[in-house]
Amino acid sequence: MKRIKRIVFISSEAVPFAKSGGLADVSGALPAALKKLGVEVSIILPLYRTVKEKGFPLVRMPGRVHVPLGSDTLSAAVYKHITTDGPDAYFLDREEFFDRRGLYGTEEEDYFDNLERFTFFSHCALQLIDGLIPAPDILHCHDWQTGLVPALRIGPFSDKPLISRIPVLFTIHNLGYQGIFPAEKFSLTGLEKDRFFTMEALEYWGKISLLKAGILFADAVTTVSPTYSKEILTPQYGKGMEGILQKRAGDLHGILNGVDYMDWDPETDRYLPSNYGPESLAGKMVCKRELLNEIKINGKSVEKPLLAMVSRLDNQKGIDLVLKILDDLLKQDLSLLILGSGGSDIVGPLKAAAKKSKGRLVLKTGFDEGLAHRIMGGADIFLMPSRYEPCGLTQMYALKYGTIPVVRATGGLEDTVKQFDRKTGKGNGFKFIPYEAGAFLRAVKDSLKFFNDPSAWKGIQENAMSEDFSWARSAKRYMSLYKSLI
Ligand code: ADP
Repeated sequence: MKRIKRIVFISSEAVPFAKSGGLADVSGALPAALKKLGVEVSIILPLYRTVKEKGFPLVRMPGRVHVPLGSDTLSAAVYKHITTDGPDAYFLDREEFFDRRGLYGTEEEDYFDNLERFTFFSHCALQLIDGLIPAPDILHCHDWQTGLVPALRIGPFSDKPLISRIPVLFTIHNLGYQGIFPAEKFSLTGLEKDRFFTMEALEYWGKISLLKAGILFADAVTTVSPTYSKEILTPQYGKGMEGILQKRAGDLHGILNGVDYMDWDPETDRYLPSNYGPESLAGKMVCKRELLNEIKINGKSVEKPLLAMVSRLDNQKGIDLVLKILDDLLKQDLSLLILGSGGSDIVGPLKAAAKKSKGRLVLKTGFDEGLAHRIMGGADIFLMPSRYEPCGLTQMYALKYGTIPVVRATGGLEDTVKQFDRKTGKGNGFKFIPYEAGAFLRAVKDSLKFFNDPSAWKGIQENAMSEDFSWARSAKRYMSLYKSLI
């Protein structure tokens, strides 16, 4: 019987250290869930400024790792996070690359040297595994930032017996980010150009794609929901990678992300003014009242529906649909609160709409963990009209908090939200299919109809709050996949 004893995650972000989105939630929570199944898990991360600022207890490991970057050899110091309960975390420190304000750039622009930064990170991570930390049975890489790792294993690291024999799983958290860089920079990767800058390898429309490297050279590929794993094989959702993914279709699996209920449970949530659970929803009203005070929504009645979004303000998230239906929405007696961060192309029009709405649309920009929790607790309806959604975590949080999701039926939203059916009393939310303002508006209006029918609404809330998307289930699926690879 095959046994997995150790797994190493290589990831560019993980909770609680550094986060820009759902990838961090997964890289933080999945190792912890795997640990409960009896395996040792370590995670390798860059030492970003934000990690230093948060003051985690880090211990410097002896020596440095040295790696090539183009014609230079650069080195990194290695730090280990000291903890007794969580998985081991190792940090690669090179100030010139990682001691910056953002993880990948500013809201307007990516850093110009992201290829250098994550090539350096990938090489260093493999050096670390090659003898400096206990050898794993599986490497689990995530998104384009670590897409180079599976290619390096069969390229410059192929003569390292320890590295070349370790199976690699590559997870796509969002196909929208493909790690595309100019061909002229190829020599930085450390891969042999004739072999790896080809259509069968990293070359992608004349450029380099690190995501493509991960997809083609990993032993298996996963993505974060069953529906998304099928969608990405089609031109509509494949973002140009559908042909490449079709080549790996036999090794492509969809495993739904879980929710970290230690963090996201209204019964214990430390950010909420009042905790509550499915048995007693009174605390939710307290949360709503406090939230309305906090954000100074006009016409503060707790009786009126409060709709909300917590989201990266990105083209993916369907903000254009929200703007299209806003006038119609605000004709209803409701308020809308949006917490998000993003570029001025989306924030600008939202700000203008908020100004025009006379306080009925409130926009909070920036990243605010506490407010995200208080919104889950205090809002009635959670909007997620995503153009595409690999998994989506916030709709699962919303369900747990009895905040009923209205979502577009795509990716993980399709897998987790079930349309409410009055006849059977089954369902936990509301869905629409075509990416159209009219369809979205109808779904929102449908939800409002039930909001005004308290006994029906309570039934939907009970259905929502009884859903269980805990990591334990997903971790078991990852374990059986890891086992199939060794
Ligand atoms: P994505 O990974 O596409 O951004 P997910 O729904 O999978 O979307 O995960 C988003 C995560 O980021 C959630 O944990 C959500 O609460 C959090 N989040 C997004 N925007 C903000 C924000 N402005 N402030 C606080 N948390 C946010």
